[in-house]
Amino acid sequence: MGFVKISLVFIALTSPLFEMELFRIGRSTQIKRVVAIAVDGIREVEGKPVFSVLRKKMAELGLNTFWYGKSDGCVPSQASNLSLPAYASIFTGKVQENLKDNHFRGKFLYKTLFSDYPDSQLFSAWPPLERIFNNDIEVRARIFIAGIGNKPHEDPFVMASFRLLYNPSNRFVFVHLGDADEFAHINQWNAYLAAVESEADYVHEIIQTSEIAKMKETLYYVLTDHGRGEKLWQHHGAYIPESHTMWIMEISPYSQPVMGAPCNHIALHDTIASILKEK
Ligand SMILES: [Zn+2]
Repeated sequence: MGFVKISLVFIALTSPLFEMELFRIGRSTQIKRVVAIAVDGIREVEGKPVFSVLRKKMAELGLNTFWYGKSDGCVPSQASNLSLPAYASIFTGKVQENLKDNHFRGKFLYKTLFSDYPDSQLFSAWPPLERIFNNDIEVRARIFIAGIGNKPHEDPFVMASFRLLYNPSNRFVFVHLGDADEFAHINQWNAYLAAVESEADYVHEIIQTSEIAKMKETLYYVLTDHGRGEKLWQHHGAYIPESHTMWIMEISPYSQPVMGAPCNHIALHDTIASILKEK
């Protein structure tokens, strides 16, 4: 009897009901794919107005959009406020213990969405994201690195990412765009702002083209990995407490908001995994 009770408790604790899902999107069978676009290091204060314009365009396409940010308690799952820990949380749903600053010591300690779901693709503007997959032959074959340059129609690598995104057999595509963060770090304010605009254009291009092709089964996330300093806007990290924030925009025809749901990178992983699981 004691054994039975223990088993029931175990089942309850491991049941999917206890997963920390970010949002309960219309969890019908309608959503079959997830496209997540990380716009590295864009502060909410610059991102929100630019992406508000995008939200209006999405509404014209009949898509619901929701913005979650600082006032919703959105924070990175790891307090280093650095990129690699944030992406590790999204890919694995766990906090990585083998990180030193922005570098892995070794490789992922946990399975990633890319190893769990072979119909997934990673497209990155940032070589460290490729390097952490170096030892994983199966996943490595599905990693594409762009180099810098995120403007639609100007960068051939960006055009290559479009081909991945428009292929419906890729059920999960993660795109990393890095220009805004890179320009901020080298103190180029105007180039940082221009990168925010061009990354929003990239998102618009993807979704508009997909919608015209009637890819209604796709759920889109646009997200940041961390915030930036206020005065020290060029940088982010554990030593800049106000950079411990992030934002996520959700876009789909079926999305509904859930107030008070957890908003962090691990919750985002769990939400994506729950969709991919339901093939
Ligand atoms: Zn950075």
